[in-house]
Amino acid sequence: MKGISENMYCSDCGKKVKDGADICFNCGKEIPRGINKYITAENLPEEYKPISMWGYFGYQILFAIPIIGWIILIVYAIGGAPNINVRNFARSYFCFYIIAATLLLIVYLS
Ligand SMILES: [Zn+2]
Repeated sequence: MKGISENMYCSDCGKKVKDGADICFNCGKEIPRGINKYITAENLPEEYKPISMWGYFGYQILFAIPIIGWIILIVYAIGGAPNINVRNFARSYFCFYIIAATLLLIVYLS
């Protein structure tokens, strides 16, 4: 049974690899993703990095721009976003637009 605190060794030179490192600091060999199980704030893939408050604020303004913003919103919502948090935010914003459009339609028709 492998413990969580077990040391990692480079498959190339055999030296100990720092927890969470992407490369061996001794020989420079890349550590394949998935082998080094220690996820830290530094080695977290770009795809999963959290968005800052101002990041959300910026995306919110972007998605509110008619036509151009809406196209970007749809592209991001269907999976074209560089980050999973941006994708989820785009999906949530898209649902909001659908609800808003439905409510407007109901008000308009009644
Ligand atoms: Zn090495």
